[in-house]
Amino acid sequence: MDEIVSTLKGKGIKITPQRLEIYRILAGHNKHLTAESIYERIKAKIPGISLATVYTVLEVLKSKKLISEIRIKFDKSCFESRTDMHHHFLCTKCGRIFDIDIPPCPTLAEKEVNGHLIEKIGGYFYGVCSDCRKKP
Ligand SMILES: [Zn+2]
Ligand SMILES: [Zn+2]
Repeated sequence: MDEIVSTLKGKGIKITPQRLEIYRILAGHNKHLTAESIYERIKAKIPGISLATVYTVLEVLKSKKLISEIRIKFDKSCFESRTDMHHHFLCTKCGRIFDIDIPPCPTLAEKEVNGHLIEKIGGYFYGVCSDCRKKP
């Protein structure tokens, strides 16, 4: 059986072509995509799919902890298949988002601060990516 199919089934998600393709896009590219860019990639493959359906499927996948949502771009959510806690970097020149792993990042190990219970940690870093830095 397809690995993507078994992952979805393992989480108790009923398989539909829309769910399968959207998760396949996120899992395969290991990228941070907006709902709109997922829609752009998928509409040729699943004719008739709407942006609203993409959002609905993303909510289902998120509720099952198969994908996570980040808000590094203030106006739009991005989705990714990585669900462990990690930080992100947004290049202000090319707009690409990168996972950044700072091993060992001491903040990611925090469980409690000032009596507050921490459930999610994710830092957003902004600047110029290594590719853009090489350009004159
Ligand atoms: Zn860049
Ligand atoms: Zn990420």
